[in-house]
Amino acid sequence: MPVNGQNEYAPLLGIHSSHRKHITPLARTAISAILFTAIVVTVIVNLTIYWDDLWDLIHGLPSDPDEAASRVLNSMPVIDGHIDLADLVRAKYSNNASAVNLRLFTPEHVDIPRLRRGRVGGFFWSAYVACPQPEAEGPDFLNPSWRVRDTLEQIDIVKLLVDDYPDVFRLATSSSEVEKAIRSGRIASLIGLEGGHQIGTSIAALRQLYALGVRYMTLTHFCHNAFADSGGYLEPLTPRWGGLSPLGRTLIQEMNRLGMLIDLSHTSDETARQTLNLTKAPVIFSHSSARSVHNIARNVPDDILKLIGEQPGKTDAVVMVNFAPVFVAPQGEANVSAVADHIDHIANVTGKQHVGLGSDFDGFGGTTQGLEDVSKYPNLIAELYHRGWNKTELVGLAGRNLLRVMAGAENTAKQLQSARVRPKYDIYDKRTDIPYDREF
Ligand SMILES: [Zn+2]
Repeated sequence: MPVNGQNEYAPLLGIHSSHRKHITPLARTAISAILFTAIVVTVIVNLTIYWDDLWDLIHGLPSDPDEAASRVLNSMPVIDGHIDLADLVRAKYSNNASAVNLRLFTPEHVDIPRLRRGRVGGFFWSAYVACPQPEAEGPDFLNPSWRVRDTLEQIDIVKLLVDDYPDVFRLATSSSEVEKAIRSGRIASLIGLEGGHQIGTSIAALRQLYALGVRYMTLTHFCHNAFADSGGYLEPLTPRWGGLSPLGRTLIQEMNRLGMLIDLSHTSDETARQTLNLTKAPVIFSHSSARSVHNIARNVPDDILKLIGEQPGKTDAVVMVNFAPVFVAPQGEANVSAVADHIDHIANVTGKQHVGLGSDFDGFGGTTQGLEDVSKYPNLIAELYHRGWNKTELVGLAGRNLLRVMAGAENTAKQLQSARVRPKYDIYDKRTDIPYDREF
């Protein structure tokens, strides 16, 4: 027997209808006005942000390649995969940040005025430390060295320099922080390590370097290490492990779990092949060109490029092309067109969404004509526009492809961590220092 007809047939509506009685016409008008204003403001803000893109979509890019390059870089500034400014400051100024003025023209490739002219929105500062001499390190990479200390000093100088120019640089540790830095008009500053020799054969050290902000590690530099074989320089090296060592395979899993990008520049072909098969996350080649275009060991061969992609059995990656003349062309022939040849070739094999820019500026001698320093990236964008690349493809090349790969690695890490995959506790099996008998 219903006590109250309204409650019996629609028990929940009763509460609402009694509330509705309290909303006066005036209040209703005010709410509508607020909502309308919010919508208008959102539309205006979005139009302001995306006005250029909308304009280009309707009208197309200007036919002049330099103007077109400028419009591309308005949408997405350059994010470079590898710049050696920190090593320059170590070598020339003993890491004394106050001895360096990046607002003035510097003698090498990188300073703030030229970064601004080159439309740079971010780059990986390489916290590079050179390989030890093989005889000093010993056959099993076990003799102690100062590499881990020096790596910490390199991270420190990056942070000091970033802090010295807060109006220019902002430290970034994720794809969203890169985007945020760019939106605020800063140059996103990421940190990468250039070789497994920099972590003292220790996965635990890698975890702590991640905690300090490091977001990629190149598996090797020019030397083999406890984790993987290097690809050498102009000629390949005799392999030590045949690709990844057993600890190297564990390292890949831990890098995936942490969300630290795996960088396959400098590695041997076999190391790259095995890693592309094993990794659960997208990877990068932070500064590598194409071997088919210029045949030296340090460049990436086509059979490895063919493992990159979205199709089943392939891995998402971005190959960020190196501008160093020695990697680009025979002596005296390196120029902007030759670098564009590398980009075109890699894009033809992998698809344009897998190419990026990893200049290696401040890390090489000699000159690549038209790409002499960080102010010159627009020349390369203009050259590729002239060759038929469209805006979306050029935006990808400039930085969007790298951001996709970074976000992919971040997602993999999130998934592995929410599945409670444990950190790797493996210790390099050739170490003899632990465990040990404790004496009191
Ligand atoms: Zn390098």
